[in-house]
Amino acid sequence: MFRGKSRKYLSIATVLVAVLLLQGCSSGSENAVPEPTESAVAVKPHRYNPSQSPAFAEPWPTSVTRKEMIDTALFKSFEFLDTMPQAPCEVKVNTYLEESMGPEQIELIETTSRRMIELFCDYLSEDLHVIGGDYDFVKEIVAQEGLWSDQFGGICGYDVKYDAGTACAAYDVAWIGQQVGTIRRGEFVPEPARVTLLTHELFHVIHDDIDPKPGPNIPGPDSPLFRPVWLVEGAGQFFGSIVPKYLEMQDYQTYLPYDSYGQMLKVEYLSDLKKQESILSRNSGEHYYSGLVAHEYIAASIGLAPLLDIWVRVDQGDSFEEAFEKATNISVKEFYKKFAKMHDNLYEGEFVE
Ligand SMILES: [Zn+2]
Repeated sequence: MFRGKSRKYLSIATVLVAVLLLQGCSSGSENAVPEPTESAVAVKPHRYNPSQSPAFAEPWPTSVTRKEMIDTALFKSFEFLDTMPQAPCEVKVNTYLEESMGPEQIELIETTSRRMIELFCDYLSEDLHVIGGDYDFVKEIVAQEGLWSDQFGGICGYDVKYDAGTACAAYDVAWIGQQVGTIRRGEFVPEPARVTLLTHELFHVIHDDIDPKPGPNIPGPDSPLFRPVWLVEGAGQFFGSIVPKYLEMQDYQTYLPYDSYGQMLKVEYLSDLKKQESILSRNSGEHYYSGLVAHEYIAASIGLAPLLDIWVRVDQGDSFEEAFEKATNISVKEFYKKFAKMHDNLYEGEFVE
């Protein structure tokens, strides 16, 4: 299995620890034990690991644990990714990164982008573009390279200000924000959530390449170009999390969903995928969260290929409902029912925690 390139990222943290341990062992002094550092703390066993749980012996079980579901989703996804051709991809990813990001960060973004494009090469037809930097830099590159732009000269659909935590993608252009890590004590340390944001936006340009017609402003449920928000954002979250795991950069990323006031969301609400279809609230992450769990459930039940197949089929003209049923062998309605039951059973209390 080829995952060689990615090892260097993991080594950023492990090398630090190795150096500390070596110093500790070789000095021979009474004070040889190094103080724990944040880097040392960061290297811990991964919580999620690819393995097939008996709970998923049959697709769409309704009584499972999140760990069984994620481990099985990883197992089946990796099995599929292992079959992807390892040759360099004819479709190129062009990266435009502000120099101030520094060499380690630039290398991480360039390599991750290239490896991700290679993994999904079979599905791609047009070259893709990745921009890293502040939003003025995005506008500069968009103008300079003649890339697609919105009415404000950027790609996010509004004029982004206070942009430190923002990222977005439209058509073949992904803006991954200003950084994917931090410098601590002079060393670059990748931040898992920011790395996932990079791969999240990358997956948006991948599915937009497969299915370009809806564009960044997806039409409502009455349109044949309708794509549920849980599908779009869940795909970003799920593919964005499995790819860095597959490339051995970091563990699979999960998080707790909150509303825009920082309040936890009810299990019952998050179990309802119909409600996560078309209400696009930019302030809270419920569509992202339910979409992520929905992708885990589908991948653990039937693997990764059907999830990509949905995008291929909608591009060929199927409605979302038709594409979903053909790709997964279960109707959307039935899937929503199974998902609701499974999701209700995932938590002990009323809230997702
Ligand atoms: Zn997104």
